[in-house]
Amino acid sequence: MHVHIFWDALSPPGLQMPVSRIISSLLGVLTTVSDNPVRMMGYVTARKQIDAQALLDSIQAYKHRHGIDDPVLLVVHQDLFRDGNSFVFGLARQQVGAAVVSSARLSNEYYGLRSNDDDLIDRITKEGAHEIGHMLGLDHCEKHECIMFKPDTLDELDRKKKMLCPDCSARLAEILSSD
Ligand SMILES: [Zn+2]
Ligand SMILES: [Zn+2]
Repeated sequence: MHVHIFWDALSPPGLQMPVSRIISSLLGVLTTVSDNPVRMMGYVTARKQIDAQALLDSIQAYKHRHGIDDPVLLVVHQDLFRDGNSFVFGLARQQVGAAVVSSARLSNEYYGLRSNDDDLIDRITKEGAHEIGHMLGLDHCEKHECIMFKPDTLDELDRKKKMLCPDCSARLAEILSSD
């Protein structure tokens, strides 16, 4: 089993290799990264956002068409929303192994601050690892520093560490060994 990371053409360039490498060592899974072959769906012009569920549908259809069973994480630059949430950093559909993360609200520029690639790599890594954790079968965790904690703000995301807490780590080891 390995995790496919698809990188949208307009996602921050040059960051896909470090993101892929850090996620791989953080979760202890193999990752490969490539240009995104999935059709971009769900853009809502009036909101200037993508409906994350429509994008997950598109990933699901792509996986089905190409017979891909391994989990797929798509990284996009457009802002995402879902029904009931004005925005989401990312979203996973565990049962089909599809997930999406947006870099839109992860950059310093979005908040009027000076851009910094290290910050961006750090945040995409945390969000990506979180959604992959869901695809592998992990639920949300209450420990603020754990990757599986659900952040509502950038501050909460920044406060997380690039690690699973001992409980989530043990749970993942159990899942991966029963594979
Ligand atoms: Zn989550
Ligand atoms: Zn945890």
